[in-house]
Amino acid sequence: AIAVHNATKSYGDKTVLRGVDFSVEAGTVTVILGPSGSGKSTLLRAINHLEKLDEGFVSLNGELIGVRVKGTRLKELRPKDILRQRAKIGFVFQNFNLFPHLTILENVTEAPISHGVKAAEARENARALLARVGLSEKEADYPRQLSGGQQQRVAIARALALDPDVILFDEPTSALDPELVGEVLAVIRTLAGSGKTLIVVTHEIGFAREVADRVVFMDEGAIIEEGTPDQVLTRPAHPRTQDFLSKVL
Ligand code: ATP
Ligand code: MG
Repeated sequence: AIAVHNATKSYGDKTVLRGVDFSVEAGTVTVILGPSGSGKSTLLRAINHLEKLDEGFVSLNGELIGVRVKGTRLKELRPKDILRQRAKIGFVFQNFNLFPHLTILENVTEAPISHGVKAAEARENARALLARVGLSEKEADYPRQLSGGQQQRVAIARALALDPDVILFDEPTSALDPELVGEVLAVIRTLAGSGKTLIVVTHEIGFAREVADRVVFMDEGAIIEEGTPDQVLTRPAHPRTQDFLSKVL
């Protein structure tokens, strides 16, 4: 399980996260919604140590992540602990971020090999993951030879390669042509209920309604409302949630 406690972050005098508290049960799917600039990406990045919080902390399975020393008794993590923790959290970006100079297979084996998995074993596992996302026949191609939807499916296979407990998705379909969105959402849907904990920032309301266990609505660096998809998407209590949904639906 993930717990975020009092996550606070500013850039200069702009406060981006205002003491965010939330928790995610292991094996569940949480969808985060909110307008541009509300802090969704910053929150995901803090969960994966890509961003350091000014205050507050994140814990994964009871272990601290992203700890701030100042004003607390908590210890700063060592780089090797950060690497170990990051291996338990996969990240899928809006723009895929595949390595352009590596083949599809090499993109998926890169992290395991750098974590000490033997090349033959990493390749065998990568082939199984590529089969799972429907891309077995593309393993020798380079990213530029694939469609956006295919590249994003490779990115999902790559995120799975270290067998993480948690996968974070930051608007995984928003850079895709509309006809390619479905194939990526279908792959994410297969991960729901597989025991992985998924946190998905997306504006795909239909997907959220169907797949999410919980929906969190953020605005201006704070969680405004959270609950089941039915609570937040069908009967939102807060005017800002209602306003946002009237724009994206
Ligand atoms: P979007 O839907 O557009 O992706 P978001 O909810 O993911 O938005 P964030 O990317 O978390 O929002 O950004 C929140 C705020 O923090 C924005 O106002 C953004 O301009 C600002 N911000 C993010 N990263 C930085 C940075 N490295 N330096 C300065 N400001 C930043
Ligand atoms: Mg963002």
